[in-house]
Amino acid sequence: MDPFADTLQRLREAFDSGCTRPAEFRAAQLKGLSRFLQENKQLLQEALAQDLHKATQLDSAFIRKEPFGLVLVIAPWNYPLNLSLEPLVGALAAGNCVVLKPSEVSKSTEKVLAEVLPRYLDQSCFAVVLGGPQETGQLLEHKFDYIFFTGSPRVGKIVMAAAAKHLTPVTLELGGKNPCYVDDNCDPQTVANRVAFFRYFNSGQTCVAPDYILCSPEMQARLLPALQSAITRFYGEDPQSSPDLGRIISEKNFQRLRGLLSCGHVAIGGQTDESDRYIAPTVLVGVQETEPVMQEEIFGPILPIMNVRSLDEAVEFIRRREKPLALYAFSNSSQVVKRVLAQTSSGGFCGNDGFMHMTVASLPFGGVGASGMGSYHGKFSFDTFSHHRACLLRRPGLEKVYALRYPPHTPRNLRVLLAAMETRSCSCALL
Ligand code: NAD
Repeated sequence: MDPFADTLQRLREAFDSGCTRPAEFRAAQLKGLSRFLQENKQLLQEALAQDLHKATQLDSAFIRKEPFGLVLVIAPWNYPLNLSLEPLVGALAAGNCVVLKPSEVSKSTEKVLAEVLPRYLDQSCFAVVLGGPQETGQLLEHKFDYIFFTGSPRVGKIVMAAAAKHLTPVTLELGGKNPCYVDDNCDPQTVANRVAFFRYFNSGQTCVAPDYILCSPEMQARLLPALQSAITRFYGEDPQSSPDLGRIISEKNFQRLRGLLSCGHVAIGGQTDESDRYIAPTVLVGVQETEPVMQEEIFGPILPIMNVRSLDEAVEFIRRREKPLALYAFSNSSQVVKRVLAQTSSGGFCGNDGFMHMTVASLPFGGVGASGMGSYHGKFSFDTFSHHRACLLRRPGLEKVYALRYPPHTPRNLRVLLAAMETRSCSCALL
């Protein structure tokens, strides 16, 4: 018998119902907390006196942002330059020393980063180290003050477990399957242009790419010719000869993606050329949720369409899966877009487009749940790589005033202290 199961299930069901979201609910809970303190002052004082012989104190404070120290940045291969340099900017700006471990898969970029980049930085504070899984495992045995990892959820768990041994804080920028809901009232060509552009960009090897479409069978019938038209306009009649379509990074990923083409059936594309690691921009239909293409992150130029009968069904489908890095909703109704936003959770969200939210420097970028933890970009990068040190500075004098807080706690002293606390609602200069 698990003594916690019922309670945890009850709370999770309450959260899933959305009841904690409205501002009024939150305000009511905070007011409840405040009433708890006011109405039970005596009871609490007695309890605290019995447990600890003391009462709690509040004080005013300021935050000093300080570098963590020695930071490890581990990068993936799909945007090997950006995803090495962007975290580096934050880490250096915050004043850290940095070890950068680029991906061994994107070999040419790894070489430039290792051989050329250090010449531009103070090498006493910055180093590039090379290696694949085995060497990175060895590197992770060392103690760092912060680890910033971008890559797959599988390796993210390895990194976090290694960091836990030293209690090192981490940011994990991971991947997953990003749903793309398309409402029946949309203009199919507009949706097709936008989804195709963001799905086939970098040959689909983008962590925030729309991974699959959720729409009705009617919308699917309208989307298919529109997607075909978008693909032909973007990449020509023979996408393999287009200078604008990338290739699959490795033989291993090529084989994995070719395997996914047997899920459902191919409605558009489907051609492959192993010698060129080429996979045509592809759309799959008739796909089952249990098939591999709907179980793993696709990370390639393949777009399955799953049919749902209603918005409710789409929301339910999204909610019963891991929280994605990005979520997309297309609709001419802002109410529908807002409903998808309100009833789901994801690292980021964009209504009526692809991953544009990621390009806005004033927005944090990061995952939630299985898609990662922590965030960066712009000012958020600086904050991520800084320890927020809580500080209080006090003048050495005025001891007679501060002496009010020392025991013995006479009724008179307590009255003065409480009055001081009440005049400054969230901080008390006397304490
Ligand atoms: P990966 O997890 O295989 O590798 C990432 C890094 O980890 C590489 O530097 C690699 O050398 C290292 N690594 C690999 N295996 C390791 C192990 N066993 N122990 C220690 N280190 C190991 O990821 P990838 O294939 O390079 O990149 C693709 C993944 O990254 C996808 O899941 C994608 O969604 C994700 N990604 C996420 C973001 C984001 O910002 N959230 C951006 C790009 C890619």
